[in-house]
Amino acid sequence: MDLHAADEQEQMILDSLDRFLETEVRPQVRKLEHEDIYPTEIVEKMKEMGLFGCIIAPEYGGLGLSTSTYAKIVARITETWMSLSGIINSHLIMASAVQRHGTQAQKDYYLPKFATGELRGGVGLTEPDAGTDLQAIRTVAVREGDHYVVNGTKTWITNSMYGNTIALLVKTDPNAQPRHKGMSLFIAEKGEGFKVARKLEKLGYRGIDTCELVFENYRIPADRLIGGVEGLGLKQVLSGLELGRINVAARGLGLASAALKEATQYSQIRKTFGKPICEHQAIQLMLGEMATRVEASRLLVESAARAFDEGRRCDMEAGMAKYFATEAGLRNATDAMRIHGGYGYSKEYPIERMYRDAPLMTIGEGTNELQRIIIAKQLIERNPA
Ligand SMILES: Cc1cc2nc3c(=O)[nH]c(=O)nc-3n(C[C@H](O)[C@H](O)[C@H](O)COP(=O)(O)OP(=O)(O)OC[C@H]3O[C@@H](n4cnc5c(N)ncnc54)[C@H](O)[C@@H]3O)c2cc1C
Repeated sequence: MDLHAADEQEQMILDSLDRFLETEVRPQVRKLEHEDIYPTEIVEKMKEMGLFGCIIAPEYGGLGLSTSTYAKIVARITETWMSLSGIINSHLIMASAVQRHGTQAQKDYYLPKFATGELRGGVGLTEPDAGTDLQAIRTVAVREGDHYVVNGTKTWITNSMYGNTIALLVKTDPNAQPRHKGMSLFIAEKGEGFKVARKLEKLGYRGIDTCELVFENYRIPADRLIGGVEGLGLKQVLSGLELGRINVAARGLGLASAALKEATQYSQIRKTFGKPICEHQAIQLMLGEMATRVEASRLLVESAARAFDEGRRCDMEAGMAKYFATEAGLRNATDAMRIHGGYGYSKEYPIERMYRDAPLMTIGEGTNELQRIIIAKQLIERNPA
């Protein structure tokens, strides 16, 4: 597709997304979020719009969008309701693992089903005793003929109650040294022995299902091993992290931008001492910082997404975007609450939701502590003395 046609396609998609978010999502967010209700009807509409196949190649029935366009979609959805972006984000990380590393048979079978949302879900990496240190996972898959038998527990797995499939990280050789050589990634569809043990209660990110999963002698056909070769699981997961980080960065941007919009509006309406609070310098200082954070986040997200689309190395760029934009989301949510005074603390306004949603983005896809360590290591590697 030439650049002009790609720009037109992007604009059409973003326009129809905006209409959908304004008319069918925004009016429902408060109820769904406060009552922690899964947005079933909205998800069906998202399937019709092709959002489950955003970055899946057209030959497999997806929209084949660039990462740059995808990041704009994620930011816009998050501006309206962050939970909704989570429904496609981890699903597409699973899909992209198959797209990049799957066998041809796996691509032919799974990608069209992922693109329509017929099969949908997320990624099962984290365990009760292993998050950042993924090589410490203990879920084991033991080969028995043409199946593997899986035993173990995963926790914090998003999309696992209402979804039906996850990319499951396991140890196929728990004694391997280095540890990652014993790690493998499977496409696990729900079946006997794959149990959703409980839905976890969360501070924010409500309406979307995040659960603990227990695998008890869960039998998975050997041909679900992504790429068909054992020992590549961690590499396959890590190679998807840049895309994952760009998408979390886009969520940070969406939150930062939504908080700024609310604060900008409110500060012109609320009056104290005879004038709108936006005319008080203390409020102006906050608005000035908030707006700058939004613009800087947007530029970092765009630059990381562009590098990714052009096939350039972007581990440091994605890390910077993720770190900066998610901290911007958190700080803008806090500042917006201050600008709203007592009303920011009220459940009548959307600010309290943003304030509860924002911290998660500093944790997911590699905590922001880890991001700064990655950035520093890259800095040294790229600039030898
Ligand atoms: C709402 C929600 C949804 C989630 N969804 C998913 C999902 O769909 N799939 C999935 O697999 N996981 C999911 N997660 C899990 C998430 O990815 C982990 O929580 C995250 O990776 C951090 O792991 P942890 O919680 O075990 O923290 P830990 O790894 O125990 O870290 C604790 C603290 O130590 C710091 N730390 C750890 N190691 C280092 C180090 N080497 N140097 C410096 N600091 C360090 C961390 O930055 C953090 O501050 C979700 C989590 C939440 C809260």
